Amino acid sequence: MPGKPLLLVDIDGVISVWGFALDERPPGVWTLVDGIGHYLSTTAAEHLRALSAHYELVWCSGWEEKANDELPRAVGLGPLPYLSFDRVPTPGNTHWKLGAIDHHAGDRPLAWIDDAFTPACHAWARERRAPTLLVPTLPAQGLTAVEAAVLTDWARGGPLAA
Ligand SMILES: [Mg+2]
Repeated sequence: MPGKPLLLVDIDGVISVWGFALDERPPGVWTLVDGIGHYLSTTAAEHLRALSAHYELVWCSGWEEKANDELPRAVGLGPLPYLSFDRVPTPGNTHWKLGAIDHHAGDRPLAWIDDAFTPACHAWARERRAPTLLVPTLPAQGLTAVEAAVLTDWARGGPLAA
């Protein structure tokens, strides 16, 4: 039995949301991280908990280990493995997360949810040997039912069987 695919989870713009109109604010909680206020979407956290039935979740965020200090307490998500970007630097001409992702994921199938994909991310995804899905979010909404359905369908459709 092959293992679950990885789900790389960005935080800012996926769980920590901003720029919403006050009447369109998703359900959530405020928390302070290093003195900076973050509004964490409890909707995003619920979807991620459900997605953990299909995926092995990994923090893929500049928050690094701070994710495990804050998110389990604030929204009941984690602790999870996290990528560390200083330990595995990325060459300067590509996206800053890719070196650490390659190091962690190797040739495993993976989905990645993030609000800030660049053309370099899409080029990297096309060239990976394993099934790879990039799912963008809007920072004002974060992960919603729409993105969660895309991720669930992809996992159920059997990226490992492709
Ligand atoms: Mg982000």
